[in-house]
Amino acid sequence: MLISLSPPAPVMSPVHRGEATHCPYCALQCGMNVSGGTGGTPGGTVTITPRHDVPANAGALCQKGWTAGELLAGGARLTTPLARASRTSPLEPVSWDEALDRVASAVRGIQAGHGRDAVAVFGGGGLTNEKAYQLGKFARVALGTSQIDYNGRFCMSSAAAATNRAFGMDRGLPFPITDVAEAGAVMLVGGNVAETMPPFLRHLRNTLIVVDPRDTRTAARATLHLRVTPGTDLALALGLLHIAITEGHADLDYVAARTTGFEAVRASVASWWPERAERVTGVPVARMREAVRLLAGAGTAMILTGRGAEQHAKGADTVTAYINLALALGLPGRPGSGYGCLTGQGNGQGGREHGQKADQLPGYRSIADPAARAHVAGVWGVDPGELPGPGRSAYELLDTLGTAEGARALLVFGSNPVVSAPRASHVAERLAALDLLVVSDFVLSETAAMADVVLPTTQWAEEHGTMTNLEGRVLLRRQAVAPPSGVRSDLAILSGLAARLGRDEGFSSDPGVVFDELRRASAGGVADYSGITYERIAAETGVFWPAPSKDHPGTPRPFLDRFPTPDGRARFVPVDHRPVAEDIDDDYPYYLTTGRVLAHYQSGAQTRRIPELNEAAPEAYVELHPHLAERLGLAPGDMVTVSSRRGSAEAVARVTRGIRHDTVFMPFHWEGANRLTNPALDPVSRMPEFKVCAVRVERRDPLAAGERGRGA
Ligand code: SF4
Repeated sequence: MLISLSPPAPVMSPVHRGEATHCPYCALQCGMNVSGGTGGTPGGTVTITPRHDVPANAGALCQKGWTAGELLAGGARLTTPLARASRTSPLEPVSWDEALDRVASAVRGIQAGHGRDAVAVFGGGGLTNEKAYQLGKFARVALGTSQIDYNGRFCMSSAAAATNRAFGMDRGLPFPITDVAEAGAVMLVGGNVAETMPPFLRHLRNTLIVVDPRDTRTAARATLHLRVTPGTDLALALGLLHIAITEGHADLDYVAARTTGFEAVRASVASWWPERAERVTGVPVARMREAVRLLAGAGTAMILTGRGAEQHAKGADTVTAYINLALALGLPGRPGSGYGCLTGQGNGQGGREHGQKADQLPGYRSIADPAARAHVAGVWGVDPGELPGPGRSAYELLDTLGTAEGARALLVFGSNPVVSAPRASHVAERLAALDLLVVSDFVLSETAAMADVVLPTTQWAEEHGTMTNLEGRVLLRRQAVAPPSGVRSDLAILSGLAARLGRDEGFSSDPGVVFDELRRASAGGVADYSGITYERIAAETGVFWPAPSKDHPGTPRPFLDRFPTPDGRARFVPVDHRPVAEDIDDDYPYYLTTGRVLAHYQSGAQTRRIPELNEAAPEAYVELHPHLAERLGLAPGDMVTVSSRRGSAEAVARVTRGIRHDTVFMPFHWEGANRLTNPALDPVSRMPEFKVCAVRVERRDPLAAGERGRGA
């Protein structure tokens, strides 16, 4: 059995009432009922059961979903604000007034001395649409800073940049998830859904082609596995497109009717002979030909990308190359066919649509567009000239903290960059150099543990809000459980801080009020939510954006008749392969690639605190091939040190034939893997090169380990 879909025992939690809601974790946003207990008496029993009316999961949940109730009852929960008297003092409980007064006072002082941009905000792709919207407004209006970005930059930005460039719209799947089952063939590039979102497997019913350097659980189900060298997905796409064109698989009628730019792309791949692509990628020519034949001969087909293809310094071009292939085969905009991106974080889609990204305003508007600024400023009741321009991208923002050109204070909402950012030790050093670090979270994450002020928040089933899943379907997360006393919602925190910064109006703590404002702010934008209401979402089990009026049915398949570009056609864009930002050499002779495991989510701040999940995946590990293990004198279970030019991490060795001889794999849910990763940025999306860097692997030195232990 490849995956676990069976329920564990019910978990204990204070229950308010049973409700149909959605999972707190990934972008599949599986529907679940949170029910049971004793009607509002703390200590009742929460039972989580899957919903059958939500197409994404249709009655299934993964191990993380089944155990999500423990997040509500967990002993690690923060229930009082914490603050430290000085940087070297311990965190101590304080009142809410004391905590918020202290943050507001420090923000005022820092901005008075160093300017508005001396205070920065870092958000998260797990925040509801209401929170993401309000956080962007808070930064631009209450703080007046341009310095806001979020961890979704590390997740979706390459696919977003590529789809905007090709289609004029960035919506993860521009079709309902149920269309995936209609595809005769699906090519999945750099995605391991059997671990990241197991219920998605039920939508993969026909031919499956997997592109991945590892023998993943998903690859094990594939009709064809293309085991590509890390960092060469783009070259593979160029080789596949060359084959498709030269061997007569291109749909030239579709290309003529629905696209522009084909001739330039045809010329650009002319030199990507299959043999050249094989030399670069390690994928045999015969397998490439088979992949093209399967896609072109299926009748209906899809190409889907995940982080494995996207988290590179050439991620936007890699996705563009797969879109070019999809366009040449005539797939986008046809029922049961297309290109799509598998969003990662729970609200990775909605989180980037409404203003917490450095370059965007609500409704997926550009902050550099005068008309967009005027519209949003009108909704916010401010002069458009007051809105700051685009700020730094996520890594650039973190990299400059505490320096002469960077911010001196950072407010973090729903993110744990000490674990999840690339070159994480450096990021921790930058956080330590700040005058003020404020973290809003419901557990003491690694980042919260460094903060001057920690603000304890409500979480998923304790509050209302909307999420937009990987299909672009706007969903209602209902409150099902009473929050513990002592915590506040992020909206209430922003409201309290805004009032202390002189903005008494415009920062409601009521999610319904905030959503109504978001609807107005998004009206006329690419991601137009103006016709979506809580009532509609509840009645229709979600509404696809854009929905520009209440009587508009929503848009499940936005590309059927035309693409949202000025001429209605999709755009081919020529791109070319380039080497990885850091190649292997004598000092660092192996590729490191990173990814996820079934039991954990993102930085693990939530899932590492759930006993069943921790038991299933208790520790950081590094996967390596038996030949490499033999060369290094390692046995399964040995402790090893993995080092890159940026830092080192310790992990348990796991030996498997399911990985290339020259590559090691580490999951990134524990502190360590991202100390190694490379922050080289994609020039378009500003995505760091998480997915490949050069490392060396050594047996851990027990003496050094002992010394570290004594010093800890
Ligand atoms: Fe579904 Fe993702 Fe939650 Fe698992 S983690 S139950 S796949 S939403």
